Amino acid sequence: MTKIAEIVAKSKKPTFSVELWPPRTPASAAKLEEALLELEKLHPTFTAITYGAGGSTREKTHELVLRIKRQTSIEPMAHLTTAAHKRSELVAILERYRSAGIQNILALRGDPPLNGGAELSVGELAHAIDLVELARSVGDFSIAVAAHPEGHPDSPDLVADRIMLARKLELADMAITQFFFVADYYFKLVDDLERLGISKPILPGVMAPTSVKTLERMALLSGARIPERVRERLYRADQSAETIKEIGVEIALELCDELLKRGAPGIHVYTMNEAVTTVEIYKGLGLG
Ligand code: FAD
Repeated sequence: MTKIAEIVAKSKKPTFSVELWPPRTPASAAKLEEALLELEKLHPTFTAITYGAGGSTREKTHELVLRIKRQTSIEPMAHLTTAAHKRSELVAILERYRSAGIQNILALRGDPPLNGGAELSVGELAHAIDLVELARSVGDFSIAVAAHPEGHPDSPDLVADRIMLARKLELADMAITQFFFVADYYFKLVDDLERLGISKPILPGVMAPTSVKTLERMALLSGARIPERVRERLYRADQSAETIKEIGVEIALELCDELLKRGAPGIHVYTMNEAVTTVEIYKGLGLG
């Protein structure tokens, strides 16, 4: 049994973790296979598997989490959302994870899928904190939650969002942040939470933009600001996919460097299942 929050809290060196998406197409399945092979060589602290709150990849999350647990040396963290779910369904999913020996859950409210389309129905549980409570009642899970350094877009203001987050973290074991491009946003989040009595691990989520279009859509959905200096570098590029990826890695590495120098406990990377990008960031960080 491996409780990721305990590992992050006790680790003497910065942790390194990666978010992966369950594949939707044969091409994305092949990309994931490549990412898994490369990732295993890096011995990441864990990998977090996203959950399509909209529905189409829900079962795929479960399959991928179990496969990683059984067939690789990597510890998986299963994302789960309250959105569009009845309480009884969430209990059944958590029980299945418990029986399969999956101990790490990222409890979320959920967002509509990135490619837009269908409205996401509200779940029986309104907020991620309700899922944290439910998961505690089902099993001995290590529970992570989402944190938004710039505040969640639905919140009336940053103060209200921080208070809600602090309540959620009183029950959960750690947080992983939404991506951001300014290190000060992360350290303000950590300071604000400390003032509210929370000192649990907060892993910064760092995105290496691999495509301008995806970055713009994800930023719109999450409320993350794209600073002019980042925008300029990405748009100044000749727009070839390779150039964008190289610049994305550079931008991510500069941010990671500052985060680690200023005391972040590790780095959680969003690389959209891009094996090469993940390896480049890992090597660039000098963690190996
Ligand atoms: P909540 O904690 O419920 O917060 C949502 C809003 O409600 C905030 O404004 C908060 O301040 C407010 N709030 C919280 N509790 C209360 C309360 N008790 N009363 C009143 N207001 C309250 N989405 C997916 O669909 N699938 C994924 O796999 C996925 N993975 C993610 C991973 C990470 C690391 C992050 C940061 C986000 C991820 N998301 C994912 C996106 C996430 O679902 C969205 O950001 C969503 O809009 C909010 O989720 P949350 O868990 O922070 O919600």
